[in-house]
Amino acid sequence: MAKEEVKVLIIGSGPAGYTAAIYAARAGLEPVLYTGGQPGGQLTITNDVENFPGYPDGINGPQLMMDLQRQAERFGTKIRYGLVTSVDFSGYPHKVMVDEKDEIVAGAVIIATGATAKYLGIPSEEKFNNKGVSACAVCDGFFYRGKEVAVVGAGDSAAEEATYLSNLCPKVHLIVRRDEMRASKIMQQRVMKAANIEIHWNTETEEILGNEAGVTGVRLVDNKTGLKKEIAISGFFLAIGHKPNTDIFKDFLDMDETGYIQVVPGTSKTNVDGVFAVGDAADKVYRQAVTAAGTGCMGALDAEKFLAMKEMETVH
Ligand code: NDP
Repeated sequence: MAKEEVKVLIIGSGPAGYTAAIYAARAGLEPVLYTGGQPGGQLTITNDVENFPGYPDGINGPQLMMDLQRQAERFGTKIRYGLVTSVDFSGYPHKVMVDEKDEIVAGAVIIATGATAKYLGIPSEEKFNNKGVSACAVCDGFFYRGKEVAVVGAGDSAAEEATYLSNLCPKVHLIVRRDEMRASKIMQQRVMKAANIEIHWNTETEEILGNEAGVTGVRLVDNKTGLKKEIAISGFFLAIGHKPNTDIFKDFLDMDETGYIQVVPGTSKTNVDGVFAVGDAADKVYRQAVTAAGTGCMGALDAEKFLAMKEMETVH
């Protein structure tokens, strides 16, 4: 078991983590960043990213993440492949365990562990992931303009994604497993008003259909009657919620009922001094690469300020 002391520890390697690293490294805080189990985060499972400012021709997700990593390394961030397995925020400095064996003692911790989109759990979903199956209409919807698509879910995300897609696609099928939607009234009204959204009530997805080129359709089943039907679509969008990757922090940090870390509004500060939360781990509303990067910057600036105050306290 190794033990190491660091000024700033960043947990997670999506846009939030790398942006925090760039800022912390340039501030001379010699950050150490642990990548987690999916180095590069959610963007590594996306094809083209066309809404990240600064790339007028778009950029492919894995390339963007490699660029961010290189930028963080250029200023001296130490990037390590490893999984933070537990934390102890009960005292100060903060203790973090990596791969269940190495202990890091950190002056400040920036949590950028992100969130994971929920999937239905059917095999065809995995088979066609990125070949017509997507968990982000705002990221990938554009590639389906002019084509027929389906969205599964009945919350605000599903309503928002269906409405968004209805502006790009001739027809959007919204697959709802009950006879009502959970989405807010206003979001539901937008769905109902769109002439090209067809809602399939009491309906579940049995299989996503396709070939080597990608998705061609979906087989649905009415959970009241058992009747099955197939519809032809090119894109299948999941909007059944996200799960923030925050389980290991739940004994120490304030979270909402889903597990999103609560921060002091307008900052990245959590309820524990010196622990900051950025990106999707603390954001259930926007969840974009650029907003994650923005809050990553906030995390580094908040951590820098915190450490400067700590240093003042020790001097006096
Ligand atoms: P929610 O948890 O609110 O909704 C998930 C939806 O997916 C539910 O309708 C649920 O159905 C359905 N679902 C879950 N599992 C399955 C399954 N296996 N098969 C079919 N359907 C399934 O998640 P959201 O991502 O929609 O929203 C998360 C939070 O973010 C909410 O608080 C929401 O208000 C907020 N949000 C706000 C937005 C905004 O204000 N602009 C935009 C997007 C999200 P059922 O209802 O039957 O349980």
